[in-house]
Amino acid sequence: MSMMSEGRPTQPLAGAGHSVATFTGNRALMLEEPLIFESGSAEVTGVDLEPVPAHASRLGGLERKGAIGLPGLAEGEAVRHYTRLSRQNYGIDLGLFPLGSCTMKHNPRLNEKVARLPGFADVHPLQPQDTVQGALELIHELAEWLKALTNMPAVAMAPKAGAHGELCGMLAIRAAHEARGDARSVVLVPESAHGTNPATAAFCGYRVESIPADARGRVDTAALLARLGPDVAAVMITNPNTCGLFEPDLKRISDAVHAAGGYVYCDGANFNAIVGRVRPGDLGVDAMHINLHKTFSTPHGGGGPGSGPVVFSEALAPFAPLPFVVEEGGRLHLVEEESASAENHGQSFGRMSAFHGQMGMFVRALAYIKSHGADGLRQVAEDAVLNANYVLRSLDDLLSAPFGDSGPCMHEALFDDGFLKDTGVTTLDVAKALIDEGFHPMTMYFPLVVHGAMLIEPTETESRARLDEFIASLRGLAEAARAGDAGRFRTAPHFAPRSRLDETRAARSPVLAWTPAQTAE
Ligand SMILES: *Cc1c(COP(=O)(O)O)cnc(C)c1O
Repeated sequence: MSMMSEGRPTQPLAGAGHSVATFTGNRALMLEEPLIFESGSAEVTGVDLEPVPAHASRLGGLERKGAIGLPGLAEGEAVRHYTRLSRQNYGIDLGLFPLGSCTMKHNPRLNEKVARLPGFADVHPLQPQDTVQGALELIHELAEWLKALTNMPAVAMAPKAGAHGELCGMLAIRAAHEARGDARSVVLVPESAHGTNPATAAFCGYRVESIPADARGRVDTAALLARLGPDVAAVMITNPNTCGLFEPDLKRISDAVHAAGGYVYCDGANFNAIVGRVRPGDLGVDAMHINLHKTFSTPHGGGGPGSGPVVFSEALAPFAPLPFVVEEGGRLHLVEEESASAENHGQSFGRMSAFHGQMGMFVRALAYIKSHGADGLRQVAEDAVLNANYVLRSLDDLLSAPFGDSGPCMHEALFDDGFLKDTGVTTLDVAKALIDEGFHPMTMYFPLVVHGAMLIEPTETESRARLDEFIASLRGLAEAARAGDAGRFRTAPHFAPRSRLDETRAARSPVLAWTPAQTAE
């Protein structure tokens, strides 16, 4: 059964010259598209090749003997299939993408151009290092930038995403404790941390203890300090935190954690809000991942792989993973294994991945950094914060902002569902109705510390005109909800390729593989 006929049943049509016709399901520019398996057939092909004569086979008898059931399509049909699918997507190149915590900002095309230069795009990780000096220099230069921007003495470039960076940082922390013979079992994680933090700590074998937030949306410093002790290996703190707020006590917390023999892991995925303004090394941080795919605008989500380099303090640098680039006698080379000559990496915990990291993302991130310069990067942070505060203050008379009274926010504006009380409309309904207005929904029900959270991160790359459109749409929805127009929300979205889906079934019993019709139950 096709998705097409499940989602929008085709309509029988009686008309002149046709006894019964069937609508396609297309609606103006909203085009239906079946799975490629449903529209293709094994008899059709987009290529026209001579059969290979048996004697010419170089596969030593291993060549395929029969068809493997891949669908065939004429070239034009194949192009249409993927173009139609692409139009059912929403991306930063289409419109404002307010997903909080994700930093969906414009990806400058200059970065793409540079990343496609053959000297970067065509290098292979197993090439002799003499032939990739330029690539190594680029990794080295980016590493120096990341160290300077954070005031941290070492960086591991290999981690492939933020969560992978957290794992890298926590493995270094565990290695540092083990090297001292100091077995510690607990990692403290504030309630306002990103969900990946407790997951990472648990994955590394630690018991996670949650520290509550205070009434101002920050970690309860007194509760955190009171819990420190000889069993605490580390504190994992997100700054700015997931309420979009700066943690002003971080230096005090770091000093106390160090005095108690622990380490401070800072989730730096929200670096976009403070780059050029705050250096985490000055706040006593021992390890922090930086999401190049957020702060430094390398495409992410459907657009490309992540990259999550981790900066380290003096104390953790010796435990950083391999490989790393060093300069020796005017040449750059990748240190691939432990050696006495590598001064500050004597006790590396090992590797995060087979090679050196996401080269394409390094190229894009360095292009972004160099085209902004240090001053430009500071302005990125300032404008991101300005835009978020503009959204917060333009909406907080109609929507409820739980921490609106505790000063400006950082890069994200946080609302709760207080303004929807007794309207019969939920946070989910507002998010779905926003789709009808042509926007991607904001982050919903996260952070968990506020009820029915709506987290909006406009980023610095939206103009005031675009922000005003978005604000006006949200105001319109808030007014409609308060005016008792709940029906409009309950079945939204009405103008998307699919209407309200069963989210519980999608999460609990997803159908991830296509089954041929003849064997389907
Ligand atoms: C995005 C994000 C992460 C996870 O990063 P991934 O690259 O998605 O693994 C962790 N913490 C915070 C605060 C984030 O915003």
